[in-house]
Amino acid sequence: MALKGLDIFKLTPKKNCKDCGFPTCLAFSMKVAAGAVEIGKCPHMSSEALEKLSEATAPIMKTITIGKGDTEYKLGGETVMFRHEKTLVNRNRFAVLLSDSMDDAEVDAKIAHMKEVDYVRIGEDMKVEFAALKYAGNKDKYIALINKVKASGLKVAYALICEDASVAKEALDLVKDENPLVYGANKDNYAAFVELVKADNLALGVKAESLEALYALVEEIHKLGYKNLVLDPGSASIKEAFENTVQIRRINIQDQDRVFGYPSILFVDELSKGDKFMEVALSTLFTMKYGSLIVLSDMDYVRALPLYGVRQNIFTDPQKPMRVEPGIYGFNGADENSPVICTVDFALTYFIVTGEVERSKMPVWMLIPDAGGYSVLTSWAAGKFTSTVISEFVKESGIESKTKCRKLILPGKVAVLKGDLEEKLPGWDITVGTTEAMFIPKFLKELNIK
Ligand code: SF4
Repeated sequence: MALKGLDIFKLTPKKNCKDCGFPTCLAFSMKVAAGAVEIGKCPHMSSEALEKLSEATAPIMKTITIGKGDTEYKLGGETVMFRHEKTLVNRNRFAVLLSDSMDDAEVDAKIAHMKEVDYVRIGEDMKVEFAALKYAGNKDKYIALINKVKASGLKVAYALICEDASVAKEALDLVKDENPLVYGANKDNYAAFVELVKADNLALGVKAESLEALYALVEEIHKLGYKNLVLDPGSASIKEAFENTVQIRRINIQDQDRVFGYPSILFVDELSKGDKFMEVALSTLFTMKYGSLIVLSDMDYVRALPLYGVRQNIFTDPQKPMRVEPGIYGFNGADENSPVICTVDFALTYFIVTGEVERSKMPVWMLIPDAGGYSVLTSWAAGKFTSTVISEFVKESGIESKTKCRKLILPGKVAVLKGDLEEKLPGWDITVGTTEAMFIPKFLKELNIK
């Protein structure tokens, strides 16, 4: 303890308590009440007070950590129902289901598809984060499947989907060090499953026949002192799965009931019954409301593109526009004879423009200055996409050494910058481009490049 008794109140803002890091008990308490600091940081609480206050000040939804190192993911921890209230905290994760009921060729094909999904979009790695390994009755094949996935080179966290505690124990021995999710606790076996996971404090997946039964089961598991859970809202029908998923979140966040304060696991592979289009549609639905771990039957590039795009939109701060990194980007084999197109760093603008540039098949350089992450007209009006910003970026970015072509194409909506840029960039031919992205292919094909 840094100070004793009432001396604590004599602390000045310049002298923080070395235990809790705050200048006064009051400042510490206010942070605790806001859920920003754990009450346990003050070592001078009685254990009885600590227990009561920990419960009262605990986050309304627990954050559950699964995986380890590069494949560690946090699920849950949300504080609001809707994205517009406050930024959502932990994005949902996608899993692919592999089972001992599949033959080797099917497993190999799914692993190959999972590896295929590996790209970066607006600074975020897009990949399959989980392998959901389902026990379907053949223990030897199941153990072999786990070993196969481990040896495959896939960088994934594991979810063991198995309702037989003795088989789950053997499976767990293979991946325990990876901090997997162990799914399979139901009303009949939950005590055995709690026993299985509690020594390593692994996340436990819980399922029941109805919402009421799930609530009662979670209460029973709490009585055993275990609170590291992931809830299955059920997969009997799409209607029931959706209703239950939303109800669980409402009961938790709106009614402030911590019994349902856990992330969820949704078996979209079962719900979609082999219809891959339905699977993508349902995965989109549960990305928005309120799946935490979404299990699909397969994930290839075609499924990944819409799903990861939606997720990125949902789980980013709506107050902050998504931006691409300012810089020079080459398209269609841009070389020393290619012209330069300048646009802003607002992600939506960038992707629309680059999509049309790719469609044109004409080699060009894209020059993206720091325009504050706004669209063309907004950034121009905010003084962030001006002739000075563009001309300085042309000089500093190194574009003049990448191409001998001195044609700089401006977005049509800021044609007004042409005169200023001609003065600031002598030697460059400033050309006003199209006002709409869809006209870019025609414009580039007809462009007279000297
Ligand atoms: Fe010390 Fe606890 Fe007060 Fe912090 S909150 S100053 S640790 S008594």
